[in-house]
Amino acid sequence: MIAQLNLNTRQTYQPFYDGLAAGWCVPPNTAPQQQQKPIYCQPDVIAAMKRAWSRTANGTLGTEAGFTVNGTPSKYSIADTKSGNTQGSQRITVNPGGVRTLALFHVHPIRGGRNPSTPENNYLGSGEGDTGIADRLKIDIYVIHRDGLSMYDHKTKQVTPLRDNLDWAKPCK
Ligand SMILES: [Zn+2]
Repeated sequence: MIAQLNLNTRQTYQPFYDGLAAGWCVPPNTAPQQQQKPIYCQPDVIAAMKRAWSRTANGTLGTEAGFTVNGTPSKYSIADTKSGNTQGSQRITVNPGGVRTLALFHVHPIRGGRNPSTPENNYLGSGEGDTGIADRLKIDIYVIHRDGLSMYDHKTKQVTPLRDNLDWAKPCK
C-alpha cells in the first residue's frame, strides 16, 4: 500500500523527490532501510482517529467526523474536516493549499457499518458514496468504526479490513 502511495506522490512531487533522491545518494546507505509504518499506525494519525471518534461521541452520533492526511507518506500533515450538522455526510477539503491529499479518514456511526459506502449503498443516495469519492478524488478512504478500521484503496478498488474492533486506537505492534 505504501509503495503505491509512494508511486503516486512521486508523480505529483517530482521535483521534491528528485532533490530527496539526490540527498539519499550520499553517504551510501549500508544499513537496512527501516520499514516505515503504515499511515494508520503513525501515532499522530492514531491520535487524530481518537479525536474524530470522540467528536462523534464514540460513533453514536450520525455525523461522520474525520480528517485528511496531506503530503507524502513520510512527510504529511493532518487536517480535521469540518463537522457539519448534516447526518451521514460531511464536507471535506482536499489538497489544501495545493498539498496533495493522500487519504481521508472518517468515523462511521454504528449503524453505518465498518465498510466504506458505495455508489449503490450510501446515506445520501447520491450515487457516489465513499468509494465513488475515493475514485473521483484519487485518494484512499479509511473508515473508523466500532467494529474495526477498514480502507478502500482507490487504485486496487479493494476494501481491506486493517484492524478489528477498537484496536485502531492502540499503537500498532
Ligand atoms: Zn463513509
